[in-house]
Amino acid sequence: MIVGSQKSIDEIWNMVQDFKKVLVFGCNTCVAICHAGGEKEAETIAMLLRMRAGQEGKAMEVNHMGVMRHCEPEYFDPVIDEVKKFDLVLSTACGVGVNFLSDRTGNVPVYPGINTSFYGAVEAPGNFVELCAGCGNCILHLTGGICPIARCSKTLMNGPCGGTNKGKCEISPDVDCAWYLIVERMKKLGALEKLSEILPPRNWSTSRDGGPRRVSVEHIREYEEKEEQKSEK
Ligand code: SF4
Ligand code: SF4
Repeated sequence: MIVGSQKSIDEIWNMVQDFKKVLVFGCNTCVAICHAGGEKEAETIAMLLRMRAGQEGKAMEVNHMGVMRHCEPEYFDPVIDEVKKFDLVLSTACGVGVNFLSDRTGNVPVYPGINTSFYGAVEAPGNFVELCAGCGNCILHLTGGICPIARCSKTLMNGPCGGTNKGKCEISPDVDCAWYLIVERMKKLGALEKLSEILPPRNWSTSRDGGPRRVSVEHIREYEEKEEQKSEK
């Protein structure tokens, strides 16, 4: 899931204060789980903005709404005409949702209501941890299922570094050393010798450079085309 955290109401107010008709638009999937951007949070932000507008003596209409995902047209297409009636959409989706929606709202700007943090998991109730950096060339089969890119503070491909200390990373005694975890996991899997294999230099071309990355899934496209043709008959 994508993990994020809500922007402060002061920051949001500074972004939206000059608009007359604002829609706080929630996204009810990933960012709802971390209570950053679901419809409930959108409702709360809308209420706080109305209060703030009242305090500042500004005439501002603030509504809220939510859909399952801002990153798939099938969820927001049914409400897009409604959305376009506002002067501003404050999206509480992740940055993906804000980008995607922004391309589809014509003259209506879409502003971010949350800060998108990382791809992570629920470690414990209320605790979210980063586990993947979306490098586009997964090597978890070589590292016991523990990602050195997201979880090692230096993104080392050959660890641990000299800073490792009793299983903790040199940046903080509260942070596990990813490479310590990898070594321990590989021991447990009876595959420690795999870490001694000499590997070719990593190909980083799939990672964060060279413009936006795309994944194309042929069978989904074919299926959708067939369904569309069927519905046209
Ligand atoms: S190796 Fe890449 S794709 Fe795999 S978990 Fe790490 S960052 Fe994510
Ligand atoms: S101590 Fe471990 S996690 Fe920290 S930078 Fe070194 S190898 Fe990476």
